[in-house]
Amino acid sequence: MNSIMASAGLARSGNPRPMDGKVAVVTGSTSGIGLGIANALASAGAMIVLNGIADPIDAEKLCQVLGPRHDVPVRFDDADMSKPAEIHDMVERIGRSFGPVDILVNNAGIQYVAPVEDFPIDKWNEIIAINLSAAFHSIRQVLPGMKRRRWGRIINIASAHALVASPFKAAYVAAKHGIAGLTKTVALEVAEHGITANAICPGYVLTPLVERQIPDTAKARGMTAEQVVKEVLLAAQPTKQFVTTEQVAALATFLASNDAESITGAIIPVDGGWTAH
Ligand code: NAD
Repeated sequence: MNSIMASAGLARSGNPRPMDGKVAVVTGSTSGIGLGIANALASAGAMIVLNGIADPIDAEKLCQVLGPRHDVPVRFDDADMSKPAEIHDMVERIGRSFGPVDILVNNAGIQYVAPVEDFPIDKWNEIIAINLSAAFHSIRQVLPGMKRRRWGRIINIASAHALVASPFKAAYVAAKHGIAGLTKTVALEVAEHGITANAICPGYVLTPLVERQIPDTAKARGMTAEQVVKEVLLAAQPTKQFVTTEQVAALATFLASNDAESITGAIIPVDGGWTAH
């Protein structure tokens, strides 16, 4: 279908909010971290474009919940982030409906767990496309408009795996290290244009992406699911607690604010101390 399919916003009312009038797109925001960030940006007043792989009825429901909850327009776009042409068309559609993108959150991501010599080539290509190349395609398209308006926020959701590796995650770790490099490069190129580019590096957050990899990791390591949670996932985090979507979303919202204009090119861990090791 590939078109914006729902708008659930109401007329604005009440006190001004910091992101009133800003257009925010959060890729991969039908669940997990992306949905948390969309919710937080909406609560700050931004118009929201949700994106992801979702049943149209479920996507419509998300718009119907988020828009009225925060009194902002919310739309869903089903562009497949593995396909550059669909990314291009999505940004064009947003321009025609809400206006040019002010806040771009590259969050869509997938995972696959296998030893490198058994790693399926199609999974490698898919992970690099969604977790890394999609950000390149969306960034290059929104930058000219941000430069014209002398304001823009690019927030890439990387991972602790942008800073350290774990076995059996070759494509994911490569893509996340790559997005850290992309973030820093873009930040340098646009630093004098009122645009910031930063990466957030969460540790483990209990979202569908993590829940799905528990059985695969158990298989790859010969462990039970409970052992994977305790001895693999939370073993890496000194706090021994999952990071929450709300904690990641709060940082993303700050990075999108005017107060964060001097934070750029930063690769920021939110990982319970994982990468302090
Ligand atoms: P999730 O599975 O809950 O959400 C992933 C989102 O990406 C969904 O909305 C899904 O529909 C979307 N998506 C997947 N393939 C897509 C495609 N081809 N086109 C468009 N959308 C697509 O996962 P999550 O844990 O919320 O992950 C979000 C981001 O956070 C990812 O980039 C992930 O690497 C990163 N991250 C997650 C964790 C964690 O522990 N959950 C830790 C560090 C980083």
